Amino acid sequence: MPDKETLSSAQVKKLLRQSGLKAKKSLGQNFLVDDAVLNIIVEAAELSREDVVIEIGPGLGILTVELAQRAGNVVAVELDTKLASLLRSRLGSLANLRVINADMLKLTLSQLLEGENKYKVVANLPYYITSPVLRYFVEASPKPSLMVVMLQKEVGEAIVAVPGQMSLLAISLQMYSKPKIVSHVPSRCFYPQPKVDSVILRLDMLPEPAVKVADINDFFEVVRCGFSSPRKQLHNSLAHGLGAKPAEVALLLERTDIDPKRRAETLSLEEWAKLYEAWTISKQDEMQ
Ligand code: SAM
Repeated sequence: MPDKETLSSAQVKKLLRQSGLKAKKSLGQNFLVDDAVLNIIVEAAELSREDVVIEIGPGLGILTVELAQRAGNVVAVELDTKLASLLRSRLGSLANLRVINADMLKLTLSQLLEGENKYKVVANLPYYITSPVLRYFVEASPKPSLMVVMLQKEVGEAIVAVPGQMSLLAISLQMYSKPKIVSHVPSRCFYPQPKVDSVILRLDMLPEPAVKVADINDFFEVVRCGFSSPRKQLHNSLAHGLGAKPAEVALLLERTDIDPKRRAETLSLEEWAKLYEAWTISKQDEMQ
C-alpha cells in the first residue's frame, strides 16, 4: 500500500503511464491531486470505525485509502476495469476494502451493502452521472445517513438553491436532505484539469421528508408537471403538465394563494406541498 496517498499531477501522470492507462474523459476521470481538498472531504464525512462507506469511482484510490484508514468498511465501485484491477493490486493489503468493478447505477443496494443497513456515501463523482447517483441514494431504501460528494460547482449551487432558483433536482434533494456546500474547489486541484470548478457538498439525510405529503410519488408528479415548461408562468406550465383546463388550474392556484404569474422556480417546498394537496382534493371532488 502506498504510504502517502495524495499524488501530485506529475505522479498521477507517471502512474497512469506506467500502468498503460490514460485518463478517460468519457468516464469523468479527473483525479484529485490536492491534500487540503482530500482532508476537507474526509473531515466532512466524520468517519469512525462504525461506518460503512460506499465510494463511487475510486479511480487511483487517493480518497479510498483515507476512507479505509478511518471507516470500518469501504465498498468502492469503479466502472473502468483497468483502474479497478490497478486499485486491487495497489490497495490489496487493506482488509476492509472491497472493490467492485461495475457501473454504479446498475448495482442494487443489497449488492453493495451485503446485509448492512447503515452507511455513508463519500465520493469525487464522475460529473456525467452526478444527478442519477444522487437521486439513486436519496430514493434508496435504506438511505445513507450522510453523503459527502465532490461535484461540478454549478450543480452544487443548484442543489442548495433557495426559492427563485429552484429546480426539480433541488426539490428532489431538499425533500430528503439538508444540503450544504462545504468548500469550493478550483479546477487546478485535479489531473487532468477539468474545464469547470467543483464544490464539496455535504448532504445530511433527514429522518422524514422535509414536508409532509400523502404520497411522495404523486407529489413529485405534480412538481414535475410544474417544471414541464419552466420558462412559462405557473398557470400555463401546470395546465400543460397536468393536462388540466385553465379554469381548473386558476382555481387551484387561488385556493393555495399562489400567484398564477409566478414561475415554478420561485416556489418553496411548502408551497409545492400545498399545491399538491389542493390538486389531490380537487381530483377527489371530481370523482364524487
Ligand atoms: N476518486 C478518484 C479521485 O478522487 O481522484 C477518481 C474520481 S474521478 C472524478 C471519477 C471516477 O469514477 C473515475 O475513476 C471513473 O472511472 C469512475 N466512474 C465513471 N463512471 C462510473 C460509473 N458509472 N460507476 C462507477 N464508477 C464510475
